[in-house]
Amino acid sequence: MAETTELADLAREAAGCTRCALAAGRTQVVFGTGDPEADLLLVGEAPGRDEDLCGEPFVGRSGKLLDRLLAEELGVDRRRCYIANVVKCRPPGNRDPRPAEVAACRPYLAAQIDLIRPAVVVTLGNFASRLLLQTDQGITRLRGTSYPFGDARLVPTFHPAAALRSGGEVVAQMRADLVRAKHLLGWSSEPEAGAVGPVEGGG
Ligand code: SF4
Repeated sequence: MAETTELADLAREAAGCTRCALAAGRTQVVFGTGDPEADLLLVGEAPGRDEDLCGEPFVGRSGKLLDRLLAEELGVDRRRCYIANVVKCRPPGNRDPRPAEVAACRPYLAAQIDLIRPAVVVTLGNFASRLLLQTDQGITRLRGTSYPFGDARLVPTFHPAAALRSGGEVVAQMRADLVRAKHLLGWSSEPEAGAVGPVEGGG
């Protein structure tokens, strides 16, 4: 498929990217992983130490929790999804990415969304949710519903690292959000509970 080739070309381009200051401190660019034709795209914030070393998003404890929730709530493993971050290189000390870094890296995520054309985008945590929904609201207020996002629907949920820190209630809410995504994907035969939110997302 042309899109698959284009995504691979984009990953090769990103591997040598020096568009922002994060290039200086990375081990490698963490472009994204999974099915280039996935219906479900998961978007996190930025690579951490494990991801920087391994070259794949969500490979540490957070990734293990995400894999478990994908398996238990959607019945899939990560190879049926596509997983990427807003920023492709690790910020030093795992600090938040800076606006200039997000702006420099944004075209990669935009191109990934254009090429993959997912039906559902799940944003993991405040950072990705606020950016893609173009809002200042926090994840606690944003989650619990879905939003229009170009031709797709966007489901905001907690970052798995927050779920690891906070425990049961946050994990339960992540589960509910993933069930919402499952309904939107048409992967569930059970009726959906919950409303559609008012925020218009960008593309
Ligand atoms: S974070 Fe993005 S823009 Fe910055 S160097 Fe890495 S790939 Fe390039």
